[in-house]
Amino acid sequence: MSDLASRITAPEAAAPNQDMGDVETAQTDGAGMIGNGSGLQEVNYDVEVSLNELQRDSTNPLGSAHTFEELGLPGEVLQGLMAMQFQKPSKVQEKALPLMLANPPQNMIAQSQSGTGKTAAFVTTTLSRVDFSQPTQPQALILAPSRELARQIQGVVQTIGQFCASLVVAAAVPGAVARDTRIEASVVCGTPGTVMDLIRRRQFDVSQLKVLVIDEADNMLDQQGLGDQCARVKQMLPPTVQILLFSATFPDGVVKYAEKFAPNANQIKLKVQELTVRGISQMFMDCPDESQKYAILCQLYGLMQIGSSIIFVKTRESANEIMKRMVADGHKVTALHGAFEGGERDALIDEFRSGRTKVLITTNVLARGIDVSSVSMVINYDVPMKGPGEREPDPETYLHRIGRTGRFGRVGVSITFIYDKKSFDFLQQIAEKYQIDLIRLVPDDWDTTEKEVQRVIKSSRAQSGFNPSAK
Ligand code: ADP
Ligand code: MG
Repeated sequence: MSDLASRITAPEAAAPNQDMGDVETAQTDGAGMIGNGSGLQEVNYDVEVSLNELQRDSTNPLGSAHTFEELGLPGEVLQGLMAMQFQKPSKVQEKALPLMLANPPQNMIAQSQSGTGKTAAFVTTTLSRVDFSQPTQPQALILAPSRELARQIQGVVQTIGQFCASLVVAAAVPGAVARDTRIEASVVCGTPGTVMDLIRRRQFDVSQLKVLVIDEADNMLDQQGLGDQCARVKQMLPPTVQILLFSATFPDGVVKYAEKFAPNANQIKLKVQELTVRGISQMFMDCPDESQKYAILCQLYGLMQIGSSIIFVKTRESANEIMKRMVADGHKVTALHGAFEGGERDALIDEFRSGRTKVLITTNVLARGIDVSSVSMVINYDVPMKGPGEREPDPETYLHRIGRTGRFGRVGVSITFIYDKKSFDFLQQIAEKYQIDLIRLVPDDWDTTEKEVQRVIKSSRAQSGFNPSAK
């Protein structure tokens, strides 16, 4: 098949993270934990670029010419960012914050690569606009497509807001707000369906709302999906609310609608070839046929445990089935998807976040936004597809799925399984779109696969998203 592979290269040709000159010691922020106890560490992985180094380069998505102190944030919010040990803003933070904080408030549509700190950008703005003398009056609403992401953002609001006296943050996800009780919090993070219900039942007073953030906005405004619910929520809010839309992807089809949804917005946009993050080494596994995929997945299990891993599959049923089979074959894996009850989903994601479970099988429900820095490998068991009958490849979902690794300058590997000409062609179309060179792995050469994957994962930081033409 490789004769077809104009954008697909052999491992040697696309070896990542080599010879990058100035090498500093990586920070010890959790990334260094990767590989501990794996028993696979004999090779000397010496190619590391520190975050410090990356952040000094203002053309890098993680870099900036400024400091947080220069951005004019309220003291308590700045203190919160310092407590998180953020050294410098990332590019999207540096560019978006002054625009979002200016008065009178103006809407924003902001795009930035996966793992570049979009959450801190909108959380900082949100906290800067809240009047903490009214701690139980809802003043900001942050919407996200999944319960897991809404809860994660709630956690970030609490962390960055830890010095804001009397900050109360509520989650508006299924089951979190009891019937007949009112939301008594200044910041609310939720999913659109639940938020809509709570407003309608008058449990959520939106009359004083000043900020509406929509994370993963292209997905949330998609007319085929959540778009309708978000539009209804917006209709119920005061017309003066400041609207902030964030995502790594804004496909052409959604941009016009986003501009109507957030009128007169300032915009931060990326070119399509800037979208991929360098720290993620994108590979594909050339499986001989579909029936071999499961066995090949199991062979990768050892590598999956070097850090944490997420396996994306198409349906809830296949997630369950693969999980059961792997467990029966002696592997420790868990599954999480939309059919689980809320409390169970919370427990499963919390266990994965803390590292108590290391291999998670899931569906597109977790494709977006989830930030677990130890994730060093993402497996696409199927090429992500979209459209009626799922007949065309879904480049946005591909980008979000692989973006669960390589967070804020860390390195990671993604491996997409293909097994016939069709799946190969679909992946090829995705690679063409983003101009990426995929590394081909073959199942009968495990030595090379292991070497490739380990070399990437064990170098704890990479030059990420660096775009030489932007200089
Ligand atoms: P995105 O939404 O852009 O995909 P996140 O907001 O989830 O990315 O951030 C990814 C990670 O980067 C988070 O773990 C966050 O704590 C970290 N991060 C964000 N901003 C900074 C910063 N300025 N310096 C260091 N780490 C940061
Ligand atoms: Mg995000």
